[in-house]
Amino acid sequence: MKVLSVASEAVPLIKTGGLADVVGALPAALAGHGADMTTLLPGYPSVLKALGRVRAVHSWTSLLGVPARLLSGKLDGYPLLVLDAPALYARDGAPYADAAGQDWGDNWQRFSALGRAAADIAGGAMTVRGKPVRFDIVHAHDWQAAMAPAYLRFAPFGGDAGRVPSIVTIHNMAFQGWFGPEVFPRLGLPGEAWSIDGVEYHGGLGMLKAGLACADAVTTVSPTYAREIRSAAFGMGLEGLIVARGRAVSGILNGIDAATWNPAKDGALAARYDARKLDRRTANKRALEAEFGLDADDGPLFIVVTRLTWQKGMDVLLEALDHLVGLGGRLALLGSGDSAIERALHEAASRHPGRIGVRIGYDEALSHRMQGGGDAILVPSRFEPCGLTQLYGLAYGCVPVVARTGGLADTVIDANPAALAAGVATGVQFDGVHYDAFSAALTRTVDLYGRADQWRAVQKNAMKCDFSWKASGQAYADLYRALTA
Ligand code: ADP
Repeated sequence: MKVLSVASEAVPLIKTGGLADVVGALPAALAGHGADMTTLLPGYPSVLKALGRVRAVHSWTSLLGVPARLLSGKLDGYPLLVLDAPALYARDGAPYADAAGQDWGDNWQRFSALGRAAADIAGGAMTVRGKPVRFDIVHAHDWQAAMAPAYLRFAPFGGDAGRVPSIVTIHNMAFQGWFGPEVFPRLGLPGEAWSIDGVEYHGGLGMLKAGLACADAVTTVSPTYAREIRSAAFGMGLEGLIVARGRAVSGILNGIDAATWNPAKDGALAARYDARKLDRRTANKRALEAEFGLDADDGPLFIVVTRLTWQKGMDVLLEALDHLVGLGGRLALLGSGDSAIERALHEAASRHPGRIGVRIGYDEALSHRMQGGGDAILVPSRFEPCGLTQLYGLAYGCVPVVARTGGLADTVIDANPAALAAGVATGVQFDGVHYDAFSAALTRTVDLYGRADQWRAVQKNAMKCDFSWKASGQAYADLYRALTA
């Protein structure tokens, strides 16, 4: 089975969030399940640079009005196709916005072109030794790739011959790709696509909406988030469509890359360890305290690794910092994003010298050192489609303290009395992202930390969890098979 995975990000080439981790991991996750996955990415400068020697395998004189080439390369040893369209992608910096943080005005064109290219490729536009290469299914990720199902449905390559089925995966409903109606005539879609069953959304072009309406199946990255987006609080306007798609919508948890996130083999750590050698974490804790300028002591060291946004509940974290310090806790935080939150964090750090350390920026290696040396990771997200940092926390015995929502609800077992008695607790959950619930969870965590035997048991349970791609790879492969049967 040949699968074309289409996305705007994939590790190690281009990443702004968890989407990239997932897209980068999928080819290997599917390889053992009879699915050969090729990944299609836009030709951002960083992607082209990493490609090295390339081979052009197809070209368009006009792809939504611009010339483009398709380059062939490798993504961690798996097939990669890169859409080289300099007019759309040859821009430095972040993939979606200019240096001032303003979204590029032509994002509709940049990512509709990606969808158009995916539909062409899947339908056999690319030839090898004169023979068209076809794909059995297209797997599109998030709004940037979500036009692919619309092109497959309304304007397939070569006319009507043998429609290619498609899946859209929602990694975050908050980002939808909404544009004005004036762009529609430039999409190369027939008039019938401008409808409630097509790409039209509230009088404009809705790119994620188009994918949700046109794909044969819709997945999101946890079963709980798949349920939550049926409601207005989480559906962000698309809840009606999600409900209407009924059983076509399902949730498949993300896995983590066990080769990159394994404390027994992690070269970023001062001391490597496994569940039988948890004492070795102390060396990592000391190193982390030194790195963040924190007091060295045996009290709980909390960590946070995140985008600094409202979604991630950073305002509530800020409110609860005095409480956290009052409990004898310390915090090491790594993040970037909202500048007002950054300023408030710096201000809290200067109010609590030695107790709160803040690092603004993006630093992959530091995030590993934090998971390997912190006692507990705080994830107070208002919504969380799956979340990866709590999974890394579980793997590293850095106990997750999470809001009971989305993938956080599905992956952490709260240390309530029943779970502790049964020996299955892996973390702490709380309901509702507000000061009272979060500060109570901090208190409960510090109490648990004080009961050293129980804390150790929770760490060990956490490290036993298998959130590798094994089960999820199987689930995607089963879905591909059902849609291509
Ligand atoms: P989201 O995709 O919503 O940002 P996830 O938890 O799904 O949240 O994924 C975030 C990913 O980005 C994780 O791999 C996390 O470790 C990483 N990450 C987030 N912020 C930083 C940062 N400042 N430095 C290093 N890694 C980060």
